[in-house]
Amino acid sequence: MSKYFSKKFDALEAYVPGEQPQDQKYIKLNTNESPFDPPRAVIPVIKDQSRKLRLYSDPESRELTQAVADYYGLEFDNVMVTNGSDEALNYAFLAFADDETPVVFPEITYGFYKVIATLNNIPYEEISLRDDFTIDVREYEGIGKTICLANPNAPTGIALSLEEIEQIVRTNPDNIIIVDEAYVDFGARSAVPLLYRYDNLLVTQTFSKSRSLAGGRLGFILGAKELIDDLKILKNSTNPYNVNRMTAAAGVVTLRENTYFKNSCQSIQFNRRYTQRALEELGFRVLPSSANFLFVRTDRISGEDLYLALKEKGVLVRHFSDPKISDWVRVTIGTKTQMDVFLSKVEEIFVEQDREQSKGE
Ligand SMILES: *Cc1c(COP(=O)(O)O)cnc(C)c1O
Repeated sequence: MSKYFSKKFDALEAYVPGEQPQDQKYIKLNTNESPFDPPRAVIPVIKDQSRKLRLYSDPESRELTQAVADYYGLEFDNVMVTNGSDEALNYAFLAFADDETPVVFPEITYGFYKVIATLNNIPYEEISLRDDFTIDVREYEGIGKTICLANPNAPTGIALSLEEIEQIVRTNPDNIIIVDEAYVDFGARSAVPLLYRYDNLLVTQTFSKSRSLAGGRLGFILGAKELIDDLKILKNSTNPYNVNRMTAAAGVVTLRENTYFKNSCQSIQFNRRYTQRALEELGFRVLPSSANFLFVRTDRISGEDLYLALKEKGVLVRHFSDPKISDWVRVTIGTKTQMDVFLSKVEEIFVEQDREQSKGE
């Protein structure tokens, strides 16, 4: 930190993204990207837009915003598209939380929430999960604060039901509820239908996971026009051309390729079940996931050692140093072939461990 760096950031600990090694030698199961390419139809439109890079993108991304609105049965004014959904979350915190209205989220959740609260000088409160890593909805009822929930939650993968989300939204009519649906397409119920009935709800989604566009950086936030208007003020005061023209065009095409999207989500769900069963047979505890990852642990090896041993064997998974979850690793669901390699490496690690132990005896 330089001596010039503002003191207001003394308490800020930046978000640490998963590793993105530049060589291709790893099977990457560490950042919840899709193992599938985007639909091929995005390539010509990206090429086409690349010829117009001299010009700024449309600050309202009108075509894309309308396409998202149509897809979810909403109006243009209910949508703002963003440079990844992280950008939307940042604006939502900035707009709807402050000293008088702190933000509340679960103690184990997406690490970025804590970072943006600190960055924006917003007090936050963390609510612990139950022992089985589920969220106790009653703790959020009528809490009178801004609430942010990832559904399914990360890194557990556990989803709340639509009824539970509605219960939280209904009992906090004077506060904003942000539901982060980064993983909703992999098997949870979306809160989007609640938007027709509640004006204190915001839903964020992303093209990074289920739509194979992580590198394009595209997300969106949905809500009542008044809330979206507030968010647009912040967006236009920060980064008016937030979505570049190639990504915006790719987004429109990606939304159109719905069969491709459904099939890729189904493959992930199939490979998730397959991997879960195989891990359970190896003695792992696996949390019930509605996302494109599994959160797993075993008594045979610590989370960190498993992460390191897998990395040594060319498979990257995610380990978190937070002591509450340091026994666990998060494994992104890839193709069946990738999952077979992952599983065989885990078995290898166990065999080597047994060999070491019998040597010691
Ligand atoms: C990946 C992720 C996001 C946002 O990703 P973007 O790439 O910025 O759209 C948001 N919330 C959760 C819980 C995530 O895992």
